[in-house]
Amino acid sequence: MKKISVIGAGQMGNGIAHVLAQYGHPVILIDIAQANLDKALATIAKNLDRQVAKELITAVDRQATLDHITTSTDMAAGVADRDLVVEAATENVDLKLKIFRDLDAAAPKDCILATNTSSISITRIAAATQRPGQVIGMHFMNPVPVMKLVEVIRGYDTTDAVTRTVVDLSNAIGKVPVTVNDYAGFVANRILMPMINEAIETLFQGVGGVSEIDTVMKLGMAHPMGPLQLADFIGLDTCLAILRVLHQGLGSPKYAPCPLLVQMVTAGKLGVKSGEGFYAYTPGTKDLVVAPAFR
Ligand code: NAD
Repeated sequence: MKKISVIGAGQMGNGIAHVLAQYGHPVILIDIAQANLDKALATIAKNLDRQVAKELITAVDRQATLDHITTSTDMAAGVADRDLVVEAATENVDLKLKIFRDLDAAAPKDCILATNTSSISITRIAAATQRPGQVIGMHFMNPVPVMKLVEVIRGYDTTDAVTRTVVDLSNAIGKVPVTVNDYAGFVANRILMPMINEAIETLFQGVGGVSEIDTVMKLGMAHPMGPLQLADFIGLDTCLAILRVLHQGLGSPKYAPCPLLVQMVTAGKLGVKSGEGFYAYTPGTKDLVVAPAFR
């Protein structure tokens, strides 16, 4: 078993910690505020309850998973003896560069530093460290306990041995790794984000309403979720950040974020995590209700 730390206890970080701990790895979950860590542990417990109710795991597995997770707000101490760190902090390039500089100083020399970034260049993150060969993208999908894919992204210097270790670990935790190269958005978001952006543009131009756009894509294209609901689920701030990376990194105007998306993020409408995006979310209900701004 590998000793692993996960940096960032948001929606992705708690899912990554959950899955790694479920497969027996001792995990330290690290965030800047204890309140975020408490919330993450509560989410993990709730998601484990759901797995028990569905008879996917036993109550003993549930407790063992929770026992494998400890939390910390001290990143340097929390990575000092680790084999692997998976960074899943906010999608912001300056923040990630700082975290990787700090991780490089604090983690053992042979520790692999992985990032769950959706779009930021692995090569750029790796260049902030003295160990670019040991930096790699490990891009889980949301919700992590459910989704099978791990997009494994090789930076310019990532070694074959490090890639193999991350591919083997991904297989060992029940995921399907797919290895790709490091260009903006990799494969997943290079294809997904322009579709989401176009759905927002379609709404912005009044071609269709929120329900109409999502229904066309669900029933017409067999997508399990419409693109606007998916954007809410991912987080509109994260979608905007990814589109900006695509726009800047690939240089084509086709990736320019729709002004409506920019406006919504500015207004704090971030989707599920803020309670409102294209839909309005009320805790305790599963009904999909279009947000007041789009009724
Ligand atoms: P989130 O906003 O839910 O959580 C981010 C967490 O990082 C917060 O708890 C925040 O307090 C913490 N954080 C910020 N700075 C930190 C620091 N210096 N040290 C430790 N923790 C810090 O975001 P998220 O949706 O979980 O996304 C996290 C990463 O995963 C991003 O890089 C994002 O692009 C990527 N990702 C997101 C999705 C998705 O569907 N949301 C899917 C795949 C990948």
